[in-house]
Amino acid sequence: MNQEHLSRLKSAIRDVHDFPKPGIVFKDITPVLGSGELFRIAIDEFISTIGETKPDKIVGIDARGFIFGAAMADRLGVGFVPVRKKGKLPWETNGASYSLEYGEAHVEIHRDAVHAGEKVVLVDDLLATGGTAGAALKLIQELGGKVICLTFLIELAFLEGRKNLDPSVRTQALLTY
Ligand code: AMP
Repeated sequence: MNQEHLSRLKSAIRDVHDFPKPGIVFKDITPVLGSGELFRIAIDEFISTIGETKPDKIVGIDARGFIFGAAMADRLGVGFVPVRKKGKLPWETNGASYSLEYGEAHVEIHRDAVHAGEKVVLVDDLLATGGTAGAALKLIQELGGKVICLTFLIELAFLEGRKNLDPSVRTQALLTY
């Protein structure tokens, strides 16, 4: 990782208070996306977290994980797979539920999106409680995918989301708060 790149990314990320509800500080990554240079730097740094093993697929989480994940897949010349919120994928799906502060959420993957033995990198913009990434990880593992690493632009470490993730899978974050 390049520390100058990381500090430029950190400076560009905007804190939006009380969005989408009171008490939440939303990390707005759109200034990174809106700059050609910062977006390229973010993808460079994401790619550097993968290490030596080339994945067969990049799996991105709805919705901002699609943006980074698709760019990474294009850069590496590999396929991209979306993990989507309930009811959005058109074909046969496997799903996983996880707890939110109030209630439940559900994510889905197409059953043929990852084949047994394929090497996969799972990407999202932000790790908070780890519920979403944990559910996505479970879906990939159920299809027989081998997750090389989980990678995030931002980790909110005070929420201890790593506790909800499989400790045997390497988890990386470019920026920690
Ligand atoms: P969690 O399942 O709690 O780890 O939440 C992670 C998902 O919610 C990611 O897809 C994030 O994009 C989104 N998210 C959660 N908290 C925030 C936040 N403070 N700022 C921006 N996105 C967030």
